[in-house]
Amino acid sequence: MSNSTRCAVCKLLRRRCPEDCILSPYFPSNNPQRFSSVHKIFGAGNITRMLKSLPVDQRAIAADCMSYEAERRVEDPVYGCGKIIYRLQKKKNEIELELAKARSEIVFHSAVDTQQQQQQQVLWSITNATQQSDQV
Ligand SMILES: [Zn+2]
Repeated sequence: MSNSTRCAVCKLLRRRCPEDCILSPYFPSNNPQRFSSVHKIFGAGNITRMLKSLPVDQRAIAADCMSYEAERRVEDPVYGCGKIIYRLQKKKNEIELELAKARSEIVFHSAVDTQQQQQQQVLWSITNATQQSDQV
């Protein structure tokens, strides 16, 4: 492969990009920033080892995950993805609480409906009994 078509990894590391370069499908030359962040956080050797240890069909997902994690870590060196995970867990807890409240309101209103239906049936049967006794 010529130098002009080196993947972002080989280009950054200034090495020849072999035709079977394990990193080139996941870090193409047209997106050097993607590898730059991942390289800064994980290091090229670790990225290569991680991708080699995975089945081919899972490597793209792993590269996307490493890229996402690295970008968050570059943005927020202390918390990285942890901050986003914390925010999403908090939101999930709020939504679960809201759902529990809505479910308890449904149970309450259905109990009120049942009680009202029973009262109406009692009133209806009393009214019917009264009308029948008036007719006799
Ligand atoms: Zn390469």
